[in-house]
Amino acid sequence: MSALLGLTGIRKSFGDHEVLAGIDLELAAHEVVALVGASGSGKSTLLRCVNLLERIDDGRIVLAGEDISDPRVVADRVRARIGVVFQHYNLFPHLRVIDNVTLAARHVHGMSKADAVAKGLALLDRIGLGAKAGEYPDRLSGGQQQRVAIVRALVTDPALLLLDEITSALDPELVGEVLDLVRSLKEQGATILMATHEMAFARDVADRVVFLDAGAIVEQAAPEAFFDHPEQERTRAFLSRVR
Ligand code: ADP
Ligand code: MG
Repeated sequence: MSALLGLTGIRKSFGDHEVLAGIDLELAAHEVVALVGASGSGKSTLLRCVNLLERIDDGRIVLAGEDISDPRVVADRVRARIGVVFQHYNLFPHLRVIDNVTLAARHVHGMSKADAVAKGLALLDRIGLGAKAGEYPDRLSGGQQQRVAIVRALVTDPALLLLDEITSALDPELVGEVLDLVRSLKEQGATILMATHEMAFARDVADRVVFLDAGAIVEQAAPEAFFDHPEQERTRAFLSRVR
């Protein structure tokens, strides 16, 4: 079976700083991959490249058989198939929850208002936030806001979810509900590439952990092997710092 996402030889520099130094990575459908690594190792840049927010300098990105790194590809069409959630929930404060959830689906990805609202309400209901659909974001806790941001990413039924440190701006007591939602998405068969500094969560949810250092993959393995028997000295040094 071919990979849902295939990255080959991804390179990206900012000026003369090479941030991604040739990344090869494949995700199978329904696979959850955790990207870990020190701050500045290139995790966010890699996710931004996959979502075409950054243009790669070299390499190829193939999503479900299509070369999306081809410059002729229309980025918005690709982004409709990739759900993205960032560290800061970035809900629009002047829009009600349901409008936050449906805005991009309607105006960027061309869903009808009726379809987007029906889908958005169903998803909010499923995570216990249906009653908040008409509220403004500042009436929600940080954890609820981040769950709304995840729902917003799911409205278009994306083939792939990219999650970038989605709990790092949350108070500790609000982290659990967001991680529970990610766990349930995995159980429902989502394909997820997530940068995370939550090692316990990576161990619990990821099928595979990929360690990035200075823009290169140093080691990758199933969580038990990665955390209990890291092979590379750089991996051991990283793990000893984060645990
Ligand atoms: P991580 O998410 O692993 O912390 P990032 O991908 O955010 O790492 O950053 C990797 C490196 O790329 C850092 O040194 C960062 O300063 C640099 N970088 C990221 N985005 C830009 C940009 N738009 N312009 C210049 N440098 C950038
Ligand atoms: Mg980052």
